[in-house]
Amino acid sequence: MPPPDRLPGTAYGGLNYQPASRDLPTAGYSSRAVTGGQLPAPSCHTPRVLGIATPSPLRRLFDYLPAGPAPAEGWQPGLRVRISFGRRRVVGVIIECRDSSELSLSKLKPIDERLDDTPLPADWLWLCRFTARYYQHAIGDTLQHAMPALLRQGRALTPRTRERWVATPAEHEAARQTLARAPRQVALLEMLRQHPQGLVTQAVLAQSFTREQLKALVNKGLVERHEEPMTGGQQSPGAVLAEPALPLNGEQAAAMARLHDGLDTFHPCLLHGVTGSGKTEIYLQLIEAVITRQRQALVLVPEIGLTPQTLERFRKRFQCAVVALHSGLTDNDRLDAWEAAASGRAPIVIGTRSAIFTPLAAPGVIIVDEEHDGSFKQQEGLRYHARDLATLRAQRHAIPVVLGSATPALESLQQAVAGQYQHLRLTQRASRHAPARLELVDLRGRTRRGGLAPPVIDAIATALEAGHQVLVFINRRGFAPTLACHACGWLAECDHCDAHMTLHRQPPVLACHHCDHRQPLPDACPSCGSADLRPLGSGTERTEETLAERFPDTPVHRIDRDSTRRRDALENTLSEVRRGAPCLLVGTQMLAKGHHLPHVNLVVVVNADAGLYASDFRALEHSAQLLEQVGGRAGRSAHPGRVLVQTLHPDDPNLRLLAAHGYDALAEQLLKERHAAGLPPFRYMALLRLEGPREADVNALADSAATATRAFIEHSGLDIDCLGPVPAPMERRQNRYHMQIMLSGDQRSRLHAACARLIAWMEAEPSARRIRWSIDIDPQTLS
Ligand code: ADP
Ligand code: ZN
Ligand code: ZN
Repeated sequence: MPPPDRLPGTAYGGLNYQPASRDLPTAGYSSRAVTGGQLPAPSCHTPRVLGIATPSPLRRLFDYLPAGPAPAEGWQPGLRVRISFGRRRVVGVIIECRDSSELSLSKLKPIDERLDDTPLPADWLWLCRFTARYYQHAIGDTLQHAMPALLRQGRALTPRTRERWVATPAEHEAARQTLARAPRQVALLEMLRQHPQGLVTQAVLAQSFTREQLKALVNKGLVERHEEPMTGGQQSPGAVLAEPALPLNGEQAAAMARLHDGLDTFHPCLLHGVTGSGKTEIYLQLIEAVITRQRQALVLVPEIGLTPQTLERFRKRFQCAVVALHSGLTDNDRLDAWEAAASGRAPIVIGTRSAIFTPLAAPGVIIVDEEHDGSFKQQEGLRYHARDLATLRAQRHAIPVVLGSATPALESLQQAVAGQYQHLRLTQRASRHAPARLELVDLRGRTRRGGLAPPVIDAIATALEAGHQVLVFINRRGFAPTLACHACGWLAECDHCDAHMTLHRQPPVLACHHCDHRQPLPDACPSCGSADLRPLGSGTERTEETLAERFPDTPVHRIDRDSTRRRDALENTLSEVRRGAPCLLVGTQMLAKGHHLPHVNLVVVVNADAGLYASDFRALEHSAQLLEQVGGRAGRSAHPGRVLVQTLHPDDPNLRLLAAHGYDALAEQLLKERHAAGLPPFRYMALLRLEGPREADVNALADSAATATRAFIEHSGLDIDCLGPVPAPMERRQNRYHMQIMLSGDQRSRLHAACARLIAWMEAEPSARRIRWSIDIDPQTLS
């Protein structure tokens, strides 16, 4: 295992970044300013100064004096303390224990209170410090993000407990005599005897027994009361599986064998398998191997709320509890889950992006499912990429990391092609049906109804007549992308953004999808007064309406953010759909993700063109992934499916390549283009975003920042390109003006040095205080 903070220079994951202190600038930073840094060895004497990370956006530690009783194992990084910080009292985390400070010790305040006896897990602290340094984010704010709310507030890291009642192995006959006049107690004792592991109170009360009856049995020595953490007791060493594993097919078995060989080392793998090829089955069997070795598995998924089925599959397979971390948890649940993972009691932890910060006592594997998914990158505040951190963590723990996808991100694919990741391929669907090819439907010169061309409507009719289900995918919610005046050409635009207002019918309103500004529908054109206002284009509501008119006997389900606001609405609709009766599903990309819809046989993509000519260089990659994923929904059961893709550009070479040869062929082509153009993954990028209410102020600051950066780059010979400033693709959003400066380079350490210098400049620049700005390392979108 590499020592902390000293990663080998080899490129693993996105993060082959070696801190090159040599070329890190110090100007503008005090020597105490940190975003991460080396972990000092725990000191055995009482340090004179504690360097503390506080909940603040400042990229530095704050020095305090230790006070109160020293912890049993001495003052150490990772202990939480309560301190007075400005006018607030806050919870901070000790990062450094030192004997000196830049300030005179007499000026330092003592801490108010020490909150922990033992520090928060060291590996976790290491990850937070690395994250802060790599993403050039304040350590205090990084820790805030990585900690459950209750820990941030100062709550102790101890689990809540519950009671468990276990029948003692007393003589049957003796017990019957003792209980001769208490039939309910006899029944209760019988029930408990049928559960050798015992039952928790809730389960007992649910059977209409009472606490008094339990206590009576305890007093008679027939039942014992145990206390255990809410998240379950220590795993009993018995069976691991609750249902048998499936026998693997040839490709799966080959992939599994490779994974088995790498269980005790850092072993990054790209599990690249078409939709339905049995990747999840491989995760399950790999996790089984890991649990059998008394280690833990951490599984990251894009959105748990949207895919309860995945969670269900994990829960069904294993005897042990599967701890799920998602946005629906209460603060108490989240703390319990964190504690269960940190103590090692939870063998399997599944969560979304932020679960990468879950501490593990005995890490055994990290799995990132749908690793290409954009949700793994946080787009605000701490802009980290959970997939990249997963690779980094696996390297630190010397364990395998499995990145699974049918449509790998070009970053991951390139690592596999270059031999840095093991490339495990699954080309066959487990059900033996070849994935459907995309068929392009030329929209040019065709009239459309609800966005659908006549041949597509015919194909829908045929599929429904054959008793199949049809999924219509349209990447816009609302009734129509905008409202237009047929007399003068006026289009409904948002007053606050450079964007059109979307027309909604349910309820009727014009809404901006960028700032949520809403206004009533105008009766007449605000520009020329004409009453001839018509919807322009189609959204989910309009397509739904058209289909309901055309196929009145078939249920039409719409699935988008508007129709699924209620928590269980989506799951209710989907379980109805899974019953299999013919129906039409109209939905946005919510539908593209991971749902198993076995009866869908025809998939229609209303418009494939959005990503083809977008300004963002990743747009095509992302839209190809989406098309392939949507297509993967077709024909997962007995019948081979069809995927119809409507386009105004049927001759576009990229689209044709995708249709004829699939995502992998297009990805190969895109990698060549990225290489030739010097774009990621062949070059590294960072983006400075600036925004403010006054255009002139934003522009002026952006100009000076770019000038300063160029001067620094030239002066230091860093070999970094500085592009811009340029307006963001949507310059005005919510009445704020957005500008960007892009830095790129071949070497991470140099790019980071340039970013650090730029941040130092921004922090020292008085005019930057009135402008909101942020740095994004490895940005995933340029918007
Ligand atoms: P993926 O995660 O690659 O989309 P899944 O693991 O969900 O694929 O598998 C797709 C379907 O095939 C599931 O219904 C699964 O139960 C089934 N399956 C997977 N592996 C096997 C196997 N070895 N034998 C039989 N069925 C399998
Ligand atoms: Zn008009
Ligand atoms: Zn707006």
